[in-house]
Amino acid sequence: MKILVLNSGSSSVKYQLFRSDDWLSLASGAVSRIGESIGDLSCRWTDADGVRHRRDDSLAIPNHHAAISHIIASLRESGVLVDLDELGAIGHRVVHGGEVFHSPTIIDDEVVEVIKAVIPLAPLHNPAHLAGIAVARELCPDVPSVAVFDTAFHLTMPRTAYRYALPEYLYKEHRVRRYGFHGTSHHYVAKRAAAMLDKPLGECNLITLHLGNGASATAIRNGHSVDTSMGLTPLEGLVMGTRSGDLDPAIIFYLSKNLGFDNDTLDQLLNRQSGLLGLSGVNDVREIHRLAKAGDDRAELALGVFSHRLVKYIGAYYALLGEIDAIVFTGGIGENDAVIRSRACHTLANLGVHLDEPANQAPTGGERVISTPESPVKVFVVPTNEELEIAQQVCDTVT
Ligand code: ADP
Repeated sequence: MKILVLNSGSSSVKYQLFRSDDWLSLASGAVSRIGESIGDLSCRWTDADGVRHRRDDSLAIPNHHAAISHIIASLRESGVLVDLDELGAIGHRVVHGGEVFHSPTIIDDEVVEVIKAVIPLAPLHNPAHLAGIAVARELCPDVPSVAVFDTAFHLTMPRTAYRYALPEYLYKEHRVRRYGFHGTSHHYVAKRAAAMLDKPLGECNLITLHLGNGASATAIRNGHSVDTSMGLTPLEGLVMGTRSGDLDPAIIFYLSKNLGFDNDTLDQLLNRQSGLLGLSGVNDVREIHRLAKAGDDRAELALGVFSHRLVKYIGAYYALLGEIDAIVFTGGIGENDAVIRSRACHTLANLGVHLDEPANQAPTGGERVISTPESPVKVFVVPTNEELEIAQQVCDTVT
């Protein structure tokens, strides 16, 4: 069967079509600038002879209905999906499933209502996902739509990890707790790491580090998430491209009292103007390295603060787990940045983490081991593939 994965955002829909026999990606692309006077449709696909094609169009895409209609039309025109009957399911990435959804869930009206009820916890994401879900169900009424939640993998956290030290009613009545995100990515790389260790995932203790524009660390005991660095929202934890990560919450009172910052200003500040951007003026790590090499002190500081926080989380999760099989790097920075990986591991030798520096620096891609053969704790680089993970979870759910 074929599985279509949709990631519906407020102004874009990304898609990927997989064949479940061999998990080949048949087509992928995105519709962007939904609602603007001119939007973009970009499609890539591989034909039956294995030849790759690409098409880019600019056209008005007023809403999610038009966006997903264009996606389906382009899949049919390119011949990778002759008939809608070939679709075994449509998988939808949903950022927030609250405490309700522990696993991928076939979407019916009741599930839609529950995802709606979680909107206050993810006001930017869940409404867009719901728009995509409604269109997919309307255009493909005979194809099951399945929601895969970013939060689901972390619902195994014990309450000692997910509760904030706040009055109980804030949790009981207002659902204020730590949820964690990037769950699909952490789960995917954990499974790949288990395969690289040649052990069942259920016997693996891992620290997985998803380092992209958004960044999070997860402690995995016996295959289950037992702590993760993001919290009620994706703002908590590591330093990110434009997000501050952890800070003293009293900074918020200080800024509001002394500088008159209101909620919107604080939201912009902490989510969009902080992190690497706030420290160095730039959020792209490649550019920060370039500036640091040229002697820019702010860029050097940004790399230093990012690495310092990362090492603290690795240490904390190592202590929490007691023993670990591997540290796993993923995301744009985790997969590509040997300097950050080296800084993250260089103080861990006494804890059994021995990085193989030539392997770490080698300009190779793909899954790889970057620890020495003798290292008691392995260090892996695993390119994440959230779409594939969603497609495989969706397939397991409908078969
Ligand atoms: P997102 O969270 O938006 O999916 P990505 O996982 O693509 O982000 O990661 C983006 C980050 O990865 C950027 O900071 C970028 O600089 C960094 N990155 C991408 N390629 C490289 C590279 N070759 N070397 C170092 N950093 C890289």
